[in-house]
Parts: sequence; structure tokens; C-alpha cells
Amino acid sequence: MSKLVVTVDLDWAPEPAIEETIEFLLQNSIHPTVFITHRSKYIDTKVSQLEVGLHPYFSPDSSHGQTIDEVVQHITSLPYNFPGYRCHRFATCNLSAQAMMNAGMKISSNVCTDLEYIRPFKNRYGLTEIPIFLEDGGYLWRQHSLKITSNFKELFLSEGAKVILIHPMHFAINTPNFDYMHQIKQSVDRNSWNNMTSKTLNQLRWEGEGIRTFLKELIQISSQTCRLSDLYHDVLELHNLNEAVLESQN
Ligand SMILES: [Zn+2]
Repeated sequence: MSKLVVTVDLDWAPEPAIEETIEFLLQNSIHPTVFITHRSKYIDTKVSQLEVGLHPYFSPDSSHGQTIDEVVQHITSLPYNFPGYRCHRFATCNLSAQAMMNAGMKISSNVCTDLEYIRPFKNRYGLTEIPIFLEDGGYLWRQHSLKITSNFKELFLSEGAKVILIHPMHFAINTPNFDYMHQIKQSVDRNSWNNMTSKTLNQLRWEGEGIRTFLKELIQISSQTCRLSDLYHDVLELHNLNEAVLESQN
């Protein structure tokens, strides 16, 4: 059975973009897992309806800190209720994975495919790795169709839960292609990006086909949705079952 699993990476998005995206999902009975880069007032008010995990950025230009320890300390000081993380720009390495595990993480979602279903698995740290089927930015970068084709539909509805990753800014602006957002990012500094108003977002919004219209169509063709934690519990059950079988053979 195919299921849709929606995850959202905050990426320091302005509050109106976060609010628009999460409101839209909740109205469609989707309770997303949100990976946070910072504290959002809006997310704080919806925390009972969301799984809130962490989105650390391990890089020298990170506002989270200069070293792995600093980044881990900063990101884990934010309020979260889901022991999972995904690195911004998928900038992960063995040392940061180990540090996040030591900080209590159980789930990693740091493998991004290009429309491929990969079953969740245990990684070398024993964390449950939950791969991503579709990421909005990567989807635009690969220039896939923003109209749902019959081939895509067949792939999407095939066996296995499909984890998708949406960024509030792509949703709010309805990004039609990779360059469109790239140019916006180039034209504003960090502060203006963080504080963009809904008026500016509306002015930047693309009226044709884009990530927002694509997500709407995707939700329409999905008959079932679940949360990232449901996938995690399925993996745990499977592993307990495997261990029981191994034990009974000894
Ligand atoms: Zn990110």
C-alpha cells in the first residue's frame, strides 16, 4: 500500500511562509514532520499537531555554530518533540551523525533519492534512516514535470510509503523552476529573508504551475497519509521480529 508522508524543512523561512504551508497541510488532514532550523512562534502554537524534529547546519558559514559540538548544542536547545533530524543541505558526516545520536536522536532522514522508494533501514550508528522519495528543490533542479504525469502517478502509487520534503518558501512562492528561487535568494540578505512579509511573498508568488500546485495535485492522488514516526515504529517492529527469530534459532 502506498502512503504519502510529508516532511517540511524550515530553512529559516519567514513566519508567513511557515504558517501558510503548515495551515494548508493541516487543512488537508496531513500532520507533517517539521525539521526546524530556528524557533518559530507559529510552530510553537501548533506543536500538538506536529512532529517537530531538528534541522542542523554543519558548515563553517552556519549560524548554528562553528564546530559540530556547538551546532549540536544550539539545535538541541530548541523545543522539539520528535527524536529525528535531517541536516540542512544534507551536510552530514560520520562525526556529526555520532554527535546527533549521542544527543538522543533515533531517526535520521539524510538520504535523498530522485523519485526512488527505498525502505527505511538501520544505518551504521543504529539510527533508523528514512530515505526521501522527493524533495521539492531537487525535483525542480532535475526539471521534472510540475503536472502529474501518468508515469509519475504509477511510480508514486506503487508499494511503499513515499516521504516527500517541502520547503515553506517553495510552497509560499509556488516556485516554478530552480533559477526562480535562486535569484530571490541572491537578491536578499539573511535578515530580509527571515523577515519577509506576506505582502512580499504574494508579490513574488508565481501564478502558473509550481511547487504549490504540484503538492496540491499530489495530495489529491494520495489515498492515505501517515507520519514519519509511523514508519519508524514499523522498522522497530520488523527489527524486533528479526531479533526474535534469530534468538529462537540459537
Ligand atoms: Zn535545509
